[in-house]
Parts: sequence; C-alpha cells; structure tokens
Amino acid sequence: MHGLAFSTGIAAVDCIMNLLRSGDHVVTGDDIYGGTYRYLEDVAERRGITFDYVNMYDEAAVEAAIKPNTKMIWFESPTNPLLNLVDIEMVARLGKKHDVLTVIDNTFATPICQQPLGMGIDIVMHSATKYLNGHSDVIMGAVMVNDTELYDQLKSFQNAIGPTPSPFECFLAQRGLKTLAIRMQRHQENAMKVAQFLEQHPKVEEVLYPGLPGHRHHELAKKQMSGFSGMVSFKPKTDLEGTIKVLNATEIFILAVSLGGVESLIEQPATMTHFEMPEEVRKEVGITDNLIRLSIGIENADDLIADLDQALSVI
Ligand SMILES: *Cc1c(COP(=O)(O)O)cnc(C)c1O
Repeated sequence: MHGLAFSTGIAAVDCIMNLLRSGDHVVTGDDIYGGTYRYLEDVAERRGITFDYVNMYDEAAVEAAIKPNTKMIWFESPTNPLLNLVDIEMVARLGKKHDVLTVIDNTFATPICQQPLGMGIDIVMHSATKYLNGHSDVIMGAVMVNDTELYDQLKSFQNAIGPTPSPFECFLAQRGLKTLAIRMQRHQENAMKVAQFLEQHPKVEEVLYPGLPGHRHHELAKKQMSGFSGMVSFKPKTDLEGTIKVLNATEIFILAVSLGGVESLIEQPATMTHFEMPEEVRKEVGITDNLIRLSIGIENADDLIADLDQALSVI
C-alpha cells in the first residue's frame, strides 16, 4: 500500500482529478461533499471533463450512467449529510467490469470503520482535517492506493502541482493519529446513544445514523463497516426558522461546519455546508431545510443528550 499526504483534503481531490483528461466523463453520487461538487462544477468542467450525478445506491443507475468515455466513479459512503451507504463491493465490481477507476472519499468512515482498498476500490482519499487528525487544528488530505503505477502517477502530479502539507501540520497530524482508534470508539459509542435518544424524541421527525437498525442501509452498514462512525443527522419537526433556533440554542454543540474533531459540532446543511447546491437539487436528494448534521465528539454522552434535549425545547 502507498500513501500521500496533501495540504488539504480538497488538494487530494484535485490531484486525483488530474488523472482525467479533457473529454473524460465521471460518474458520481448526487449527494457528494459540497466541496467536491464545487470542484466538479467550477474547475473540472472548465477542463472539459463531464460528469453525471446519480443515485449511487442503485446499481442499475450507476451502470446505466457509465459511458464509453467514463474514466472514473467517484463516491462517498457514508454520504454527507444524509448518511446513506453505497455498496463498495458493487462499485468495485462495476469499475473492474467497465475498466473505470474507482475512487472513494472515506473521510466519514475513517480506516477504523471501513477499508475500501481491501474491497477492490482503486483510490481511497481522506480529508485528514477531520477524524484522522481529530482535533480541529490541522488542514490536511490523504490518498491511499495499492497500485504502484497509480501511486507514481499521483506522486508526480503532487510534485508538479505542489499541494504538500507543512512539517508542523504533519507533526500535529501524527500526534492526532495515535489516538484515532480510541477516539473512534468513543465517537461511535456517543453517536449511537445520541441517535437512540433522538429517535424516541417527540419533536424529531427522522434520525439518520447507519448504526440504527431502522436505517435504510443498516444491513449494508453491518456488512461493509466495522463501526458506524460519529456522524448523525436528524430532522426536527419544524421549518427553516425553527431549525435555526435549535442550532442557536445548543451550549455544548458548537455551531460550525467541519467535523471529526473531539468536540461536538452542529450545523444546517441547507444554509451552511450545502448552500451552494441549487435548492431543487437539495430537495430532490432529501437535504431539507430542517435537516441538522451533528458531528458527535468525545464528551460525556449524557451531557450531549441533555444539551440537545434543551435545544429541542425551543421549538
Ligand atoms: C472536509 C471534507 C473534504 C475536504 O477536505 P479539506 O481538508 O477541508 O479540504 C472532502 N471530503 C469530505 C467528505 C469532507 O468532509
């Protein structure tokens, strides 16, 4: 296995996308990370690369989107912010069948919960800014591949473009990595408790957490993940304004984008992480105005639950 560290997660995205040439086509998910969406729309498009956003949970839809010039399938699992799961082995199989490079953004799962190279995926990328570093004080990206030729190609792009991380950030990230396994354990324990609490709360319409037996992809989650990570999304029974009230009422959860740090964060995708996505597209994929995304930290779970309980009391 080979790995490369980048100055940011999005620099890792850019380096991988440089494998594509003008005229190439990418099949990607319809609820991918907002920054990757922006990259495709604002940068890749100008280089003559075309892409289709598809429902990645549907094998037939993914296969139907593959054209003769498709060179890459780019996906996430779990997705952001809806926490849907994509069948990783299915994507690897389609990639091999059609000779298309497969890339997964594994930021949400981390290598503790999910190891896609072992499932046949060609390239794994991470925003190391999130769980890998884990302390919200570093911006960094990472790319892992098994294939040496692919590694040499990416490394040569990295050398040509220059998005390398600084020595100090590497030092911090290496410190962070030492506690990754134990942090993930606590993140997911807390996430499960918070998800279970929200699920029975009368003011909550829906909870999205792959670890819940009622989650639409729970069986797949059990099959391809060894843990469910620390991201939980939910919909309080209210509108855009009410949701903003809830966001502003939390005391432990900090209102901020980003994720994967030791402290718990809360955000509203419709107005924050996914505001650049056109409203119709958001509606279509299910990013409703009342959707709240939580990054569950390693605090005491009872404190987190009490905080959400009091915040929900404002609606
Ligand atoms: C944050 C994030 C990125 C981009 O990473 P940066 O380090 O912020 O550049 C890419 N993918 C996902 C899923 C992310 O959450």
